[in-house]
Amino acid sequence: MGSIHTGLEEEKGGLAKLAAFFEERAKGGVGLIITGGVAPNFAGRVSPWGAQLSFKFQARRHEVVTSAVHRHGAKICLQILHAGRYAYHPLQVAPSRIKAPINPFTPWPLTGFGVRRTIRDFVNCARLAQDAGYDGVEIMGSEGYLLNQFIAARTNKRTDRYGGSYENRIRMPLEVIELTRKATGGGFIIVYRLSMLDLVPEGSDWGEIVTLARAAERAGASILNTGIGWHEARVPTIATSVPRAAFSKVTAKIKSEIKIPVAAVNRINMPAVAESILAKGEADLVTMARPFLADAEFMAKARAGRDSEINTCIACNQACLDHVFVGKRANCLVNPRACYETEMPLRPLQLNGGKPPRVWVIGGGVAGMSAALTAAERGFAVTLFEAGPRLGGQFNLAQVIPGKEEFLETTRYYETRLKLLGVDIRLGARAPIGELATGGTQSVAHVIWATGVRPRPIELPREGTRGPAVVSYSALLSGEVKPAKRVAIIGGGGIGFDVAEFLTHPEGAAPTVDGFFAHWGIDPDLRARSGTAGMSRKIHGSGREVTMLQRKDGPFGRTLGKTTGWIHRASIKDQGVKQLSGVLYKRVIDDGLVVSIQGEEKVIPCDQIVVCAGQESVVEGLKELEVTGVPFTVVGGARLAGELDAKRAIQEGFGSVARI
Ligand code: NAP
Ligand code: SF4
Repeated sequence: MGSIHTGLEEEKGGLAKLAAFFEERAKGGVGLIITGGVAPNFAGRVSPWGAQLSFKFQARRHEVVTSAVHRHGAKICLQILHAGRYAYHPLQVAPSRIKAPINPFTPWPLTGFGVRRTIRDFVNCARLAQDAGYDGVEIMGSEGYLLNQFIAARTNKRTDRYGGSYENRIRMPLEVIELTRKATGGGFIIVYRLSMLDLVPEGSDWGEIVTLARAAERAGASILNTGIGWHEARVPTIATSVPRAAFSKVTAKIKSEIKIPVAAVNRINMPAVAESILAKGEADLVTMARPFLADAEFMAKARAGRDSEINTCIACNQACLDHVFVGKRANCLVNPRACYETEMPLRPLQLNGGKPPRVWVIGGGVAGMSAALTAAERGFAVTLFEAGPRLGGQFNLAQVIPGKEEFLETTRYYETRLKLLGVDIRLGARAPIGELATGGTQSVAHVIWATGVRPRPIELPREGTRGPAVVSYSALLSGEVKPAKRVAIIGGGGIGFDVAEFLTHPEGAAPTVDGFFAHWGIDPDLRARSGTAGMSRKIHGSGREVTMLQRKDGPFGRTLGKTTGWIHRASIKDQGVKQLSGVLYKRVIDDGLVVSIQGEEKVIPCDQIVVCAGQESVVEGLKELEVTGVPFTVVGGARLAGELDAKRAIQEGFGSVARI
């Protein structure tokens, strides 16, 4: 299991919760766990309150984590991460005084003495980790953190023995590895995470990467883990739009250069993807982090050939990285229990030989499916009513957006598990609520109302008869209506962006690794410095003319996710989508849509207007349920349509049943 920062590392009493989190994964069959990053000294902390391991009393606190993992025969390494100029505090240090574009603080350049002291701090941290029972450490040398900053000419302008030539720039990471090996002895695992594709100007070229890999092996590294892209790089590396295993060929290329095992990373989220990397000989190990947030039993299910039961990480970042970046505890959109194992136990029903009480779930979107599955896992008898022809709700629309194909996996997971647990799924059926009142149906202990949302319609006066058709985003994405050549999108929220992506990508083009490399200008042969130097990007579009509109002033996409919003904004810009803010919608005419901007009327020429103006709750029938006297809980979009999001829907589905 690869490193992922959970936020538990810093919480009061968090290490016991972290132990429970890792223990579930170790029990689930993970072989080697790498913890979230822990700083070797104060300056290296990611934030002022970030985790640090420098003293014996801190090491003792970690024993709860290591013993929990060892109980299940797994191994665990502590990741030592010095943030360098990515540290979010004013005491940050770096090789040179060059500010990171993603951080408001300017670093203090380390003196020669400071470099040597920092190396000692790394070694001290590794020794303390060993005392705490860790089987090894991962030395973080990639993603643009301190050691990577020393390696790259971009951030290292020093003139001492730690700067200048490549040989000098890699001296610090190599001394860290060498001295850690000396201090910890032969049996201790030292994983070195090597940046194999920096994806920023003035990064390493392939020859240099090979030099470093060989030197790291000689210095005492036991395993090389692959690092892809600095955090400041403007190329997506782990988002859902990155094809699965997109970077495994990078690992494959280094594998032939060294003897120690190498690990492949990034967008490996199902057993078949991992198996294919291993079978092709591209790597010796496979590292997954987010997939284990999504499903603690991933390995056990994979071993038993129960892949279709895996709750797949859809790479949305919405509840994991987006949380961590704003200082919140990580969680998982598709698994609300992740990092809350001790606070959200799944209590089995105590039946004492009696028949299980029945729960009705009305609505088969993600909130309803989450509620139905939780109820079935607890031991309730469950009936799930879905008025439409299939389960999935809004996820059925999301999965047709180019780059969001993974959303299909969530519906597949729920469908498989619901069927296996014997949930009575009634498709194309409305719940016979009237029968609850008359007692005409078997007794129902609780009803979960999860009927979801419908697109919010808007009134647009029409002049003329030939003007553009006004359609909802759901009509477009469900295939009910075909996209036209010139389209105006009303609304610039998440769905407005999704619709713009849908309209501008070439139709029927399945995402490929080659296509992804070409789009983002990554050298397919990996010869270009940093992977991107001198490369141009190749954008393929659908040829449609798309205009996005919003009433508020200012830039579009402010509400998009912290770690993925920039990708959507870049993609839309690449595709030449026009964006107009501060508009008032006036009327539809034969030539298009008339809007007013700062009091001046303007015609947006278009053949189709797609309304993405938010949603409203579907609550028809709720009053009828209220009078039956049967206890019920309203969840997801049906409870609150504004700020509708799948994370909340799945959480509420889970929580509503966990509490019965
Ligand atoms: P949203 O983010 O609330 O955006 C609704 C848009 O409609 C806004 O741009 C709003 O802008 C406009 N609008 C609202 N009322 C209107 C009205 N009466 N007439 C005309 N325009 C109106 O909702 P959404 O786009 O439907 O997304 C729903 C949820 O899913 C959101 O929480 C979103 O974050 C999430 N989501 C996220 C992503 C992503 O991050 N990629 C993708 C899909 C969905 P003005 O008021 O300025 O006109
Ligand atoms: Fe994966 Fe999204 Fe869960 Fe993060 S929140 S682990 S990206 S499914």
